[in-house]
Amino acid sequence: VSPGVPLNIPPLEAARAKGVPVISELELASRYLQGDIIGITGSNGKTTTTTLVGEILKAAGKTVQVGGNIGTAMCGLVDTSTPTTINVIEVSSFQLDAIVTFRPHVAALLNDTPDHHDRYADFAAYRRSKFRIFENQKETDIAVLNRDDANVFPPPDGIRAQKHFFSRTDGVVAGAFRFGGMLYLNGHAVMSASDVLLRGEHNIENVLASMTITSKYSVPSATLAEVVGEFPGVEHRIEFVGSVRGISYFNDSKATNVDSAVKAVASFERNLILILGGRDKGASYGPLVEAMRGKVRHVLLIGEAAD
Ligand code: ADP
Repeated sequence: VSPGVPLNIPPLEAARAKGVPVISELELASRYLQGDIIGITGSNGKTTTTTLVGEILKAAGKTVQVGGNIGTAMCGLVDTSTPTTINVIEVSSFQLDAIVTFRPHVAALLNDTPDHHDRYADFAAYRRSKFRIFENQKETDIAVLNRDDANVFPPPDGIRAQKHFFSRTDGVVAGAFRFGGMLYLNGHAVMSASDVLLRGEHNIENVLASMTITSKYSVPSATLAEVVGEFPGVEHRIEFVGSVRGISYFNDSKATNVDSAVKAVASFERNLILILGGRDKGASYGPLVEAMRGKVRHVLLIGEAAD
C-alpha cells in the first residue's frame, strides 16, 4: 500500500477479510534490501535529518543510499543495495501502520506533535504508530530518542534496542547534547553551536539527532563539524529566497502543521509578515498565536483554512 492510501478503504478491508496480507511499500522493500537500515521518523524534521545523516555518512566515506519518504521510494533502492550499503530511510507514520517485520538497525523518533488528525482516531493512535519503528529491533540495534520531547521521553516499555538520546537542554551519556554553547557527542565536544549553519532551535535538535544516529559508524568529530558547518538545509524549509528592498523572503512551504509553523516563527527575532493557510488538519492554532505575539506585524491568510 502506498503511504498516501488510507488502510481502511473497502478494497483493503476486503483483502484482509480474505486473509490477504496488507503491507506497506516500506515493509515489502525491507524484506529485500541489503545492508544496514537507518529509519528516521517523527512529526517534523524527517527530511532535514535524513538528508544531513546521508551527507555525514558520505563524507565519512561510507556507501550510502538515501530514500523512503524522500526522493527514491525504498523499493527503488533494493537493486542497488549491497551488504555494506547504509540505507538512510525517511519513514512516515503511514508506512509504519502496515509493517510486520521492518527492522531498522538504527531507528530514530525525532519528535511527536499533533498532526494528521484527518487520518488517526486520536493523538494516542498517532503516537503508537510512530513508536512502531522500534517494535522489531533487537538488543544489538540502536533506538535514538528526543530526550526533550514529553511525547517521546520517557518512551513506552518494550523497546529492546540500546537507547541513545539527544537533548538541547540536558546532558546525556549515550548520545548528543548541547552545553555551554558546545555540541557534545558521547561526552566529547564536537563543535560550537554557533557554527551550525541551519537557522533555529529546532535545527539544533536535527543536528544533535543526526550526530546520535551516525555515532554507530565512528564518524570523526572533524567530519561531523565540517558537514554540519556547511549544510545549508533542504529547499522549502525556512529557505532563504532573496532580498528585495531590504525585505528578506523565506520559503517555508513545508511547514504543514502547527508545530513546524511555531518553530519557523521562533527562528526569527521580529518584524515578520506571515503567509499562512492551506488545509486544516484539526490541530489547535493556539500555540501559533502565542508564538506570534510581539513578532508578527501582518498575517496574510490563504486557502481552505483561511477562516
Ligand atoms: P518532515 O520531513 O518531517 O516534514 P522537514 O525537514 O521537511 O520535516 O521539515 C518540515 C517543516 O518542519 C519545515 O517547515 C521545517 O522548518 C520544520 N522543522 C524541521 N525540523 C523540525 C523540528 N525538529 N521540529 C519542528 N519543526 C521542524
